[in-house]
Amino acid sequence: MSEHKAGFVNIIGKPNAGKSTLMNHFLGEKISIITPKAQTTRHRIMGILNSDDFQIVYSDTPGIIDPAYQLQKNMMKFVESSLEDADIVLFLVDIRDEPETYNFLHKIKRLEMPVYLLLNKIDLVDSEKLLEQKEIWKKEVEANAYFEISAKQGINTESLLQKIKDQLPEHPPYFSKDEFTDKPERFFVSEIIREKIFKLYKKEIPYSCEVIVDEFINEAKILHLSVSILVERTSQRIIMIGKGGSMLKKVGIEARKDLEAFFGKQVFLQTYVKVEKDWRKNKSKLERLGYN
Ligand code: GDP
Ligand code: MG
Repeated sequence: MSEHKAGFVNIIGKPNAGKSTLMNHFLGEKISIITPKAQTTRHRIMGILNSDDFQIVYSDTPGIIDPAYQLQKNMMKFVESSLEDADIVLFLVDIRDEPETYNFLHKIKRLEMPVYLLLNKIDLVDSEKLLEQKEIWKKEVEANAYFEISAKQGINTESLLQKIKDQLPEHPPYFSKDEFTDKPERFFVSEIIREKIFKLYKKEIPYSCEVIVDEFINEAKILHLSVSILVERTSQRIIMIGKGGSMLKKVGIEARKDLEAFFGKQVFLQTYVKVEKDWRKNKSKLERLGYN
């Protein structure tokens, strides 16, 4: 048999670096939610790229921050665990950033596996700035490889993929070749709805929300979904629902479109807004919600 390569490629960086955009680009599927707001990715999400002779298991992670409350502490644990099992680490930075603003650089310098430094969003700078920033970052971080990319426009991502394939160890596949993620279908229901909430509401609201799938009944032609949207306070519940239910209706309409595209069938979606007092700060509530 010809050789087969497989390995774990973990994408890390600050919030908004473009981590989810990059993983989705490689997979050609929208599996990780993308919004212009920081801190939308809360879990570690694996996205699997399968081919006859290789399998790349990407991990998208929450952006690295100084945690301010318990949910964020648990989110940072997902990041740390993703650094333990990586074959290759993709350290993604916004090319416009200065290294001084990265207080976790020492952790990256200590990693033993190959680290690629990816300067992302090159579509937003001119060639002069690009060279300047590249020099600064190269001096600061000693990486196994440097790439200047645009995750959004797919610039230089082919050569990056080639480099990853070259460096992957020989190994049988870790997952069945027809799988594209480690997460169950229900997870994508809540992620798609969370994405719409991030897009439609301001300030604290999206950060205070969690989406629970209470019912997932998959029939031949239609998927029946019933979800609870948890908020932390009654005042947030009122905002979430909106005048005469108008805001919640918008969430439902937009989410349903994406859900139907994702599952490839008609979707019947019911949403309920519930108050779960201070869920983000409460360890046992977080555990029940899957943040452990
Ligand atoms: P994450 O927090 O690191 O997962 O970042 P996201 O993938 O959610 O992206 C954050 C924002 O940056 C989104 O609005 C993306 O569309 C945008 N973005 C990501 N990559 C690029 C890029 O290469 N160029 C530009 N112009 N925008 C990008
Ligand atoms: Mg993300």
